[in-house]
Amino acid sequence: MQLHIGVIRGDGIGPEIVTEAVKVLNRVGEVYGHTYSFEELLLGGASIDVHGVPLTDETIEKAKSCDAVLMGSIGGDAKTSPWYQLEPSKRPEAGLLAIRKALNLFANLRPAVLYDELKGACPLKEELTEGGFDMMIMRELTGGLYFGERKTVEEAGVMTAYDSLTYSETEIRRIAKRAFDIAMKRSKKVTSVDKANVLDSSRLWRKVTEEVAKDYPEVTLENMLVDNCAMQLVKNPKQFDVILTENMFGDILSDEASMVTGSIGMLASASLNETKFGLYEPSGGSAPDIAGKGIANPIATILSAAMMLRFSFDLDKEADAIEKAVDLVLKDGYRTIDIMSEGKEQIGTAKMGDLICERIQ
Ligand code: NAD
Repeated sequence: MQLHIGVIRGDGIGPEIVTEAVKVLNRVGEVYGHTYSFEELLLGGASIDVHGVPLTDETIEKAKSCDAVLMGSIGGDAKTSPWYQLEPSKRPEAGLLAIRKALNLFANLRPAVLYDELKGACPLKEELTEGGFDMMIMRELTGGLYFGERKTVEEAGVMTAYDSLTYSETEIRRIAKRAFDIAMKRSKKVTSVDKANVLDSSRLWRKVTEEVAKDYPEVTLENMLVDNCAMQLVKNPKQFDVILTENMFGDILSDEASMVTGSIGMLASASLNETKFGLYEPSGGSAPDIAGKGIANPIATILSAAMMLRFSFDLDKEADAIEKAVDLVLKDGYRTIDIMSEGKEQIGTAKMGDLICERIQ
């Protein structure tokens, strides 16, 4: 297969970790007979340095012409970087929000996986996490409270603020279908999270999700209230497969779920639109404190590349091979600094990439 992939190296540790993910993709290409054309794209601070703005129309157009985009993190140290002397709409992060919007990326996927090998980093009791866990949070990204009408008014000398939470049937159906499609590639369970005992938008969310479920008889749908879900994530995380939820609930729950896995350097993510196109990136930031030292953990970016193969190209075998290689490297006792523990061998970014490549057979 010929894969046309946009590559945004980004800022801080971005170029280091993306280099390793590209190395791993090339290894997969050698083993499974795929070829790539990589298109380098500028975003964030790197784009400001060249063009004076964090995102150009040229980057958007080039990204649209790719089958998928792999990205490192963007941004710098807000206290020292000149990018933060610019007005907010010209700073690196504005470019990220703008590209997500321009590409209509409405579905955000964040896996939260606890590797048995790293369970020491999990803050939960061992009996709750024995054997590890593996869940996928699917968060709606372009609707709901963060995009609804808002205003602040003063009435009779009292300030009052309004934010509105709106979802249309169409917005709910398109993300629910995505969640069920993804559950079909996993353990075939969707937990849809809402607040249907209080909110109209949640009652519509539940109704539409139940309608979509009828088209997926193999997938079990469970509805859960968001307050209960927040508790269940720390009480029994093993019960979850795909968690489907709206924008604000997903914002909070995905951070909670990632916390229980222990390390930011291991967390992949994807943002998808209605086609097979997706933007794949690590969940963490550009870590300016360790940039250029060759010590960043590239695994989140490498696992994001595996998600890209699985969700944009349906190359499940190849994605499995990457995930298995990561598991093997951890089992063999290799660690980057962020996941280091006693008795293990500490290695740098490039060595981690090499060892993962060696284990892709
Ligand atoms: P951060 O995630 O960059 O760093 C938090 C801590 O985690 C740091 O100690 C860092 O060294 C460590 N860390 C993060 N990724 C790591 C990795 N792969 N390996 C080892 N250690 C790792 O968060 P921050 O410091 O709040 O933000 C730094 C910059 O990143 C800011 O400019 C912020 O806006 C930006 N940011 C970008 C994205 C994105 O591109 N999607 C996301 C979050 C933050």
